[in-house]
Amino acid sequence: MTPFTLARPASLEAARRAFSGDAAFLAGGHTLIPAMKSGLRAVDTLVDLTRIPGLDSIRRDGDRLIVGAMARHAAVAASPVVAGAIPGLARLAAGIGDPQVRRRGTIGGSIANNDPAADYPAAVLALDAVIETSEGTHAADDFFQGMFATALADGEIITAVQFRIPEAFAYAKFRHPASRYALAGVAVARFPEGVRVAVTGVAYAVFRWTEAEAALSADLAASLPALERDDINSDIHASADYRAHLAGVMLDRARKEIQP
Ligand SMILES: Cc1cc2nc3c(=O)[nH]c(=O)nc-3n(C[C@H](O)[C@H](O)[C@H](O)COP(=O)(O)OP(=O)(O)OC[C@H]3O[C@@H](n4cnc5c(N)ncnc54)[C@H](O)[C@@H]3O)c2cc1C
Repeated sequence: MTPFTLARPASLEAARRAFSGDAAFLAGGHTLIPAMKSGLRAVDTLVDLTRIPGLDSIRRDGDRLIVGAMARHAAVAASPVVAGAIPGLARLAAGIGDPQVRRRGTIGGSIANNDPAADYPAAVLALDAVIETSEGTHAADDFFQGMFATALADGEIITAVQFRIPEAFAYAKFRHPASRYALAGVAVARFPEGVRVAVTGVAYAVFRWTEAEAALSADLAASLPALERDDINSDIHASADYRAHLAGVMLDRARKEIQP
């Protein structure tokens, strides 16, 4: 690990000011610290977000569930507010990694990192969420831009995720047995105007499965489309054909959970 300066600001404004040069924000460090230790990422200044009050709050505001960027996965999993508003989101958080990962990992770190196999991006996209940042807001549809790429500008801090509370939401994932990352994960949200479906773990970034959305918006018991894309990931863990098949199985499981 190359030497770096550690900044521990106590406000968002101070965190923005501390971010200069080759800097990075530190949430739970679950991705960032291993990347720094292995030399994949060199950082001059590490700006620790853990001392900024309020960034981990979880609350409901009308038809929105607002989860602070620094909310740990374990806190989301255990929150009665989340369980009351979007119980499937609490279950998703409870299925991330293992207890150690859930105690340190944060929702802000997860979506800023945008790992192609992470769970939260699928929920954020299916639930038509709005990402609040130090600079403004991003619609989920515009936020996830590719593998490990988002709409965040340099130095922009995610402060919270506003989830639209749906009529029903479910997430089904086929997990890698060691890491618990998704080999295929499908999030399905039912809103009055239709169903949104987002898929993680299958391609190089999370995506909306529009053919499945059309089928389920017409009829929740519809026969399901096969997943056909030319960017399905194939690696030592699963072939492209297997991942596409798993996506169909996960879609079927999730849609059964959102039926009235
Ligand atoms: C063994 C293991 C198993 C895992 N299994 C799963 C799994 O099953 N499912 C899953 O979804 N994830 C899984 N993860 C990922 C984990 O859940 C974390 O969400 C992820 O590693 C991000 O970690 P973090 O929140 O500690 O962020 P950090 O590592 O601190 O930060 C990650 C990146 O996001 C940036 N960042 C952090 N917070 C903000 C912010 N508020 N604003 C702007 N940028 C920010 C950082 O600068 C950095 O670039 C696993 C991780 C490990 C180590």
